[in-house]
Amino acid sequence: MIDTVYRCEICGAESDNPVRWIVIHCSDTQLTVYKWTREVADAPHARHYCGEAHAQVYISRWFRSYCG
Ligand SMILES: [Zn+2]
Repeated sequence: MIDTVYRCEICGAESDNPVRWIVIHCSDTQLTVYKWTREVADAPHARHYCGEAHAQVYISRWFRSYCG
């Protein structure tokens, strides 16, 4: 049995146990930040970040251009 490996969208770091990672769900009009849980991480269109700093990189981009 192999665990899912998650990958940070900003730096490419990978982890199969990303306990301190951050998950973002977003659409054109709404962005939601979650602490890591398996449930939100595995949701369709979930985005994964290795920490607050990289989540913020994405949030800044989203404010400029929205989810694409
Ligand atoms: Zn990262």
